[in-house]
Amino acid sequence: MSDPSIRNVVIIGSGPAGLTAAIYTARANLEPLLIEGEPSSTSDQPGGQLMLTTEVENFPGWPDGIMGPELMGRFREQALRFGTEVITAKVSRVDLSASPFGIWVGDPTATEPTHRARAVIVSTGAQSLMLGLPEESRLLGHGLSTCATCDGFFFRDHDIAVVGGGDSAVEEALFLTKFARTVTIVHRRDELRASKIMRDRAMANEKIRFAWNSTVTAIHGEQTVEGVTLADTITGEERRLDVTGVFVAIGHRPNTDLFVGQLDLEDNGYLLTHDGSRTNVDGVFACGDVQDHVYRQAITAAGSGCMAAIDAERWLEANGH
Ligand code: NAP
Repeated sequence: MSDPSIRNVVIIGSGPAGLTAAIYTARANLEPLLIEGEPSSTSDQPGGQLMLTTEVENFPGWPDGIMGPELMGRFREQALRFGTEVITAKVSRVDLSASPFGIWVGDPTATEPTHRARAVIVSTGAQSLMLGLPEESRLLGHGLSTCATCDGFFFRDHDIAVVGGGDSAVEEALFLTKFARTVTIVHRRDELRASKIMRDRAMANEKIRFAWNSTVTAIHGEQTVEGVTLADTITGEERRLDVTGVFVAIGHRPNTDLFVGQLDLEDNGYLLTHDGSRTNVDGVFACGDVQDHVYRQAITAAGSGCMAAIDAERWLEANGH
C-alpha cells in the first residue's frame, strides 16, 4: 500500500513554468502540491517575473494583450480548477538524496520534512539583477524594464537608456533600435564586456550612443520614466540624460540557493537539465527560467513546465506509482 502522506508531485515555484506543470499534473490525476512562495519584497513574489510587468502582448492567445499579473492569475485559476493544492509559503530546505524527497516549509532545522514527494518539479525562476535604486520598484513596468523582447514595442520613437556592458545589454540595445529613436548604452567602464561581434554591431549602429564610465544614480519620473542621472565613475560629475525608457541588463540570477550541492548546476549557475527536464537526481525535474538562460520568455517557461509534468508523470508510472 502506498503511503498517503507522500505526495506524488510537489512543484516548487509558481511562475508560468510551475503553474503549467501544475495544470498538467493535476489533469493527470497526480494531485500536485504547488508551493508558490510568498511575497518578501516587490521583486520577489508568487507568480514570478510576470507579476512585475504591465502589459504582455506576445503571449499567444491574447491578441489584445493582457496585464502580467492578470495572466498569472488565470494560470493559477486553471491549476486550481483541476485540483492543484496551493500553499503560499517559501520552501526553506529540500532533501533530494532519495525519493520520497523531503521538503521543508518554515523551520529548516526541523527533523521531519513538512512534505514528502515521490517526484519534485523545480520551477523557482530567476531574477533580473537590478541597480538597487529605491525608485526601481515604483517604475518597473512604467518605463523601466528588464526585457527588451517583452517591452521594446512600447518604446516606438522614444529615447532609451540600456544599462550594462555585456552581451545582454548590447543585444537588448540592438533590438531596441528597431523601435527607439536613440538608445544610449550606459556602462560603468570604458570598454564593453560583450563579445567582439556584438561590440562591432553596436558601434556600427547609428541609433546607438554610449555613456562610458557612467553609472545611473537616480531614475526620474513619478508615474513613468522621464530621465536618469548619470555619474561619471572617474570624476564623480553628474549629468542628466532625458530618456523615457530604461532597460536594466546587468545580468540575471537563477533562484538555485535551495539546491546547491544537491542538483548539478551549469558553470553560469543555472540548473543543468538533460533529456527534457531531467536533473541529475532521478525523480527531480526542472523547468522555466531556473534552467533557461537563453530564451527567458513566459511562453517558453510554460512549455518547459508542460515538459516537466509529462516527464514526471512518465517517471512515476515507470517506477510503479
Ligand atoms: P554579464 O556578461 O555578466 O554582463 C553584465 C554587465 O553588467 C557587465 O558589463 C557589468 O559590468 C555590468 N554590471 C554588472 N553589475 C552592474 C551594476 N551593479 N551596475 C552597472 N553595471 C553592472 O551578463 P549578461 O550580459 O547578462 O550575459 C550573461 C551571459 O550570457 C554571458 O556569458 C553572455 O556572453 C551570455 N549572453 C550571450 C548572448 C549572445 O551571444 N547573443 C546574449 C546575451 C547573453 P562590467 O563589465 O564592468 O563587469
